[in-house]
Amino acid sequence: MNHSLQPLAMKRVLLLASTTGYQTHAFGDAAARLGVELVFATDRCHLLDDPWQDQAIPIRFYDEDASVAAILESAASRPIDGLLVVGDRPTVIAARVAERLGLPWHPPGAADAARHKQRTRECLRAAGLAVPWFVPVSIDLEPSALSHQPLTFPCVLKPVALSGSRGVMRADNGDELTKAWQRLQALMRQPEVRAERNDAHAMALIEGFIPGREYALEGLMQHGALDVLAIFDKPDPLDGPFFEETIYVTPSSESDETQRAIVDAVTQAAQALRLHHGPIHAECRVNPPTGSGQAADVFVLEVAARPIGGLCARALRFVVGSRLSRSDADEREHRDLTPLEELLLRHAIGEDPAPFVREASASGVMMIPIPRSGMLRGVDGIEEARRVDGVDEVHITAKPDQLLVALPEGASYLGFIFARAATPAAVGQALRAAHACLAFKIHYNLLHG
Ligand code: ADP
Ligand code: CA
Repeated sequence: MNHSLQPLAMKRVLLLASTTGYQTHAFGDAAARLGVELVFATDRCHLLDDPWQDQAIPIRFYDEDASVAAILESAASRPIDGLLVVGDRPTVIAARVAERLGLPWHPPGAADAARHKQRTRECLRAAGLAVPWFVPVSIDLEPSALSHQPLTFPCVLKPVALSGSRGVMRADNGDELTKAWQRLQALMRQPEVRAERNDAHAMALIEGFIPGREYALEGLMQHGALDVLAIFDKPDPLDGPFFEETIYVTPSSESDETQRAIVDAVTQAAQALRLHHGPIHAECRVNPPTGSGQAADVFVLEVAARPIGGLCARALRFVVGSRLSRSDADEREHRDLTPLEELLLRHAIGEDPAPFVREASASGVMMIPIPRSGMLRGVDGIEEARRVDGVDEVHITAKPDQLLVALPEGASYLGFIFARAATPAAVGQALRAAHACLAFKIHYNLLHG
């Protein structure tokens, strides 16, 4: 049976997103192929009358009550059969809407805990899962008062409700802690962060630094059970002082044992958070086993109640077939490839994701980090990068004359490189080789030296 040929009655899916960006377009394409109608709810000023001409339901992420009400009102005349979320901020609105409409989804409390780093830690600790020590601290705390906190080095400071490693810093001693704390305070006082009007931004977390390698797990919760779509290795060490995401490669090159430990830990963490139905994106750090026969220690950093962000979804494509053998999969590889967005839409309207398995080739993405802050004047070597063996796509998302802000304050990437190859190692090599071709002309900027 071929799922992609299965006829679907005209269904309607609500997509909550901050704006209509890359990922929403990919969902739009997938919806058109499936014959599913997409209804957008996007974050914008409701005083403007459909400024994007996309008939989206205008909502304000910070006003969850009003957003839920606006969506329910729209759903009364245009009923929805399922929903999807892009980004962390609208996950609770989505969960509240689903609850009111009786659609299977993550409960609001789970979505709320999942996007709040302190509540996530508390939930996982209460469930007996591995968590670092952590201390919640008011963002207004005087740096001098930090010395009274019960903490040890190395530690990590972070906002409880930002994403993309924004504001996340490592400190190895008191001096670094003071500097990092002041930097975090300045970030949290920026107008752009205040504009989110998120009460959670009043707090920060200081926690123990977890050594080891890092992994991401993309999954779908199916009525309480976890269906693993992919485990990504993050082959570049993430040891600080800042933690920019770079390369994600799947399948994982780890031992079956370690991969099982990752899946087990994420399953338990998702259960502890009470995530129930819908996409999840988890991140974890794994301490290597200390001796033979010893299991790896998996620390789940977070389980977000949403799929992998932005363009990265393009690294995941699926084929249909009940756990195809590799050769079958190879044969089908070039036909019937289902992008992640299509799989998520199918899930949103009630299909079982189990028949879908990731394509046979190894795949990866590099989120191109901003090397330093300044004005982007141009990018050389894009064509060369595209010609690197295994590279599928080089997509520069930063615009000429855009003011780039590097981590820990920054909230964006320069762009994305995608690669596919026979092995994960070859994917990693292709991504690095392509990145090496790129030369970013960034002019020094007085404001953001
Ligand atoms: P965000 O939601 O912004 O991604 P995270 O809490 O996931 O914030 O942290 C971002 C990155 O910082 C992680 O992917 C990891 O590399 C690093 N990191 C965060 N907390 C720790 C920790 N306690 N120990 C080691 N590394 C950490
Ligand atoms: Ca993260």
